[in-house]
Amino acid sequence: MSDELGREARRGVSHIQHSTLNTQHLRSKTAFGYLPMRGFISRIQRFCVNDGPGIRSTVFAVGCPLECLWCANPELLRESGGMLYHAQRCAGCGACVALSGGAIRLGDDGCIIDRDSCSNLADCAAACHHGAFERVGVEISADELVSKLLRDKVFFDQSGGGVTFSGGEAALQAGFFLEATEILKSKSVHVALDTSGHVPWETLSQLASAVDLVLFDLKAIDSRLHERYTGADNRLIMENARRIAGMGKEMIIRMLIVPGVNDSDGEVGGRLNFALELGSAVIRVDILRYHRLGAGKYAGLGLRYPMEGTPPCSGAAASRIAQRAADMGLTVYVER
Ligand code: SF4
Repeated sequence: MSDELGREARRGVSHIQHSTLNTQHLRSKTAFGYLPMRGFISRIQRFCVNDGPGIRSTVFAVGCPLECLWCANPELLRESGGMLYHAQRCAGCGACVALSGGAIRLGDDGCIIDRDSCSNLADCAAACHHGAFERVGVEISADELVSKLLRDKVFFDQSGGGVTFSGGEAALQAGFFLEATEILKSKSVHVALDTSGHVPWETLSQLASAVDLVLFDLKAIDSRLHERYTGADNRLIMENARRIAGMGKEMIIRMLIVPGVNDSDGEVGGRLNFALELGSAVIRVDILRYHRLGAGKYAGLGLRYPMEGTPPCSGAAASRIAQRAADMGLTVYVER
């Protein structure tokens, strides 16, 4: 796949400038105490078994500093969320078409939406009474979020699980997730942060130190390869991984294996060696298998799927890498 194709495929997905990342979501203190924060999340996924120990609820934050071409959640890339279109739910009634000023027309398989020229997509979507449009992202307070999460506390307690903040990148909303973490920990709930690591240290460090466990995604050891497929080099990421390990915080290093991209001997060996270098902070390496489950969402956002032609990672390939990690003395887990 060419970089050209990657850029074209991501057309319409705004890239968050790394230099503009800031700490605006950190809590602000007033004379009356801390202002309650509101977060912007897409969903809570319950009964997860691949996002840390035990049975967990994973919270997906909206907004991400990277644009990985294999991302299974492209609807989370924009900080403002987006509008997913589900063609299979469309009844062909034409209500959205009538409002769109020509930007939406009916095709054989549902609506054809010209997102560049549609200036009132939200209004068109609101006219649909068949649920074909889905607005991504909902504002929520930390208290509201925690009360939803606590419904599953019995499962967390019985399985040694808890809550994982993921995304997107939860650390972009560090203040909100910090507040949620403090409430959850006051209720004796184990909290993990799943991070890309591509966040300024002054923001990431506060959340990383508050949670019990950091799931740290290491997408490629070769910095140019990393930049080509994620939109950013890995210098800040590697630096932040070392800093979190230096804090003595428990870490799980997450290695996504994408066939033909980051599954070479050198890439895999380099990432495993880096996990070893981080020392005793690393309690486990997770081998995650690339899959195409997010491909349909690209169509729903009006985007071309950037990884067309890339096969999923096989179980056998993941097992070989897991064996290599075990041979190096690492504790390893292969995603189910
Ligand atoms: S309003 Fe909904 S059901 Fe009707 S054409 Fe538009 S998307 Fe399809």
